[in-house]
Amino acid sequence: KINSPLEAYKFLPATNCGECGEATCMAFAAHLIDRSHKLTDCKPILEEKFKKKYEELDALLAPEIREVEIGVGDKIAKIGGDDVLYRHKLTFFNQTQFAYDVTDSMDEKDLVERVNYIQDFKKFYVGNFLTVDMIAVRCTSKDPAKFAAAVKKVIETTDLPIILCSFDPAVLKAGLEASKGRNPLLYAANKDNWKEVGELALEYDVPVTLFAPDDLDMLKTLAKTFAAMGTEKLVLDPGTYPTGKQLKKTFTNFIKVRRAGIDGDREIAYPIMAVPFTAWMAHDDPVSASYWETVVASVFTIKYGDIMILHSTEPYAMLPELHIRDTIYTDPRKPVTVDPGMYKVGEPTADSPVLVTTNFALTYYTVESDIASNKIDCFLWAIDTDGIGVEAAVAGGQLTAEKIKKGIEESGFDLKKDTTHNTVVIPGLAARLQGDVEDATGANVMVGPADSGRIPGWMEKNWPP
Ligand code: SF4
Repeated sequence: KINSPLEAYKFLPATNCGECGEATCMAFAAHLIDRSHKLTDCKPILEEKFKKKYEELDALLAPEIREVEIGVGDKIAKIGGDDVLYRHKLTFFNQTQFAYDVTDSMDEKDLVERVNYIQDFKKFYVGNFLTVDMIAVRCTSKDPAKFAAAVKKVIETTDLPIILCSFDPAVLKAGLEASKGRNPLLYAANKDNWKEVGELALEYDVPVTLFAPDDLDMLKTLAKTFAAMGTEKLVLDPGTYPTGKQLKKTFTNFIKVRRAGIDGDREIAYPIMAVPFTAWMAHDDPVSASYWETVVASVFTIKYGDIMILHSTEPYAMLPELHIRDTIYTDPRKPVTVDPGMYKVGEPTADSPVLVTTNFALTYYTVESDIASNKIDCFLWAIDTDGIGVEAAVAGGQLTAEKIKKGIEESGFDLKKDTTHNTVVIPGLAARLQGDVEDATGANVMVGPADSGRIPGWMEKNWPP
């Protein structure tokens, strides 16, 4: 395994030709290590004379946990592909994929309605829409023909990737026939059906989940057997027991499997499946069921579920699941930013306030949403602080009076001419810049609240100035 740019550099052509967009091979090597470039971005290394070095380096750069693809086209889902146990050591790459279930016993109208609800579900958060990823089609009828009909209806309704869920090879085969060309994930092969399901996975060339509840030796044996049969498109399900001591055991199993994979045990270095649906099943009351399913989903989003099957589509269950996933899979190496500049919120006029914040996306969207939801028309300036929030940017020198002046001037906005008040409102957490901003801009400077949720109350008391 390669860990430093120097080690990767030794395999590169060392001509510094620049075709990859980097000035030197060493700079390119650094990007290979942080995975912001692919090896194939270096065209010279694809030439025949470098073939051996290419193959060696390609193998050495492969992530510890194999990457598995489910689905096709724009909606293809990639899972696994991680190199670290802790995200701050690099980053986690392919976010946990959430599959919500439908069954082949559902009425066709209900099935289509549920699939549409799942594929249309979205929540705007920090500049992006958070969405869910897959449909898990469960066979509850035990009838291959019914299962095939349900699978057919699902793929007619959505392009989302699908999981075919049954332990009966005849049912899985019917589902595979109905979803040819869609690269579904099979769920699952176990100690009883592994031969037939393995043959199906090879025949249809699709990924397959291996299920060995609370038996890591069996899980590893199944993985070795499938690899020997000729497929490494595997997902491991060590069983998800959602309650009491069993939950702790499940948690330990997930950590053991991932730790072994990251530590170099290739025989078990595959993505992991969690099934929080078991928590939903364990409770009679639907609110408790949804609550505990969300708790289990959150636990295994953090450690180390790469894909999961869920049931509850209540917003109070889906929103926390999506939020925690977004947090865990945000790249800690890159601050989340918005483009610096002036944004109009509502329909501001010359009498409207001019507010300043930073271009840290979480700060910007929080302020923007607090203002917009209270129907306050204003000019909102996102000052370029390299994506750092207000308090840290003031302390670190990324938010200064000069930066505020420059930010406003560069947008062509003239506080004297374009407003009737020549006033800037700075965040409460930047109060100590008040005098400097007055000197730099020649404007009146007011100090707003420290918490943007209090802007409406502050406006009532202080605006117009
Ligand atoms: Fe070096 Fe390849 Fe980049 Fe050329 S394209 S500079 S050979 S890494």
